Amino acid sequence: MTRARLPRPHEVLAASRDPRLLAARSARPGDPTWRTRGRCRTVDPETFFPLPTEPADPALSFCHSCDVQADCLAAALNAGDCEGVWGGTTPRERRAMLVAWRNRTGVAGAPTSFSAGVRTRTERAESARRES
Ligand code: SF4
Repeated sequence: MTRARLPRPHEVLAASRDPRLLAARSARPGDPTWRTRGRCRTVDPETFFPLPTEPADPALSFCHSCDVQADCLAAALNAGDCEGVWGGTTPRERRAMLVAWRNRTGVAGAPTSFSAGVRTRTERAESARRES
């Protein structure tokens, strides 16, 4: 697995003002019912895990018309997940959002490696789609 570089301060600042992140902050924590309403429920999970050389647009188009985008992004950020498309964000976008998210919520220790502790594509896709 390739290690992603840490987000730069200006990227974190921009992420902290991103409307998607602001919406995620208002999501209801601990309410898993959003998983039953995602637009991706009937879509091949692989769509949401494009290769680095592939466009994420097909997955993002589902997210942009999804009613639970904010809840989905909040769940991904709470899990520290930076693999795949979640809540209308790409992994790269979410790396900066994750630092901003943790700064705001007081979670200690900005991540030093996004390869550690991240579930595999299959584990994540299976658990998320199974719960939906
Ligand atoms: S926002 Fe989340 S639940 Fe909705 S389509 Fe995208 S990945 Fe699925």
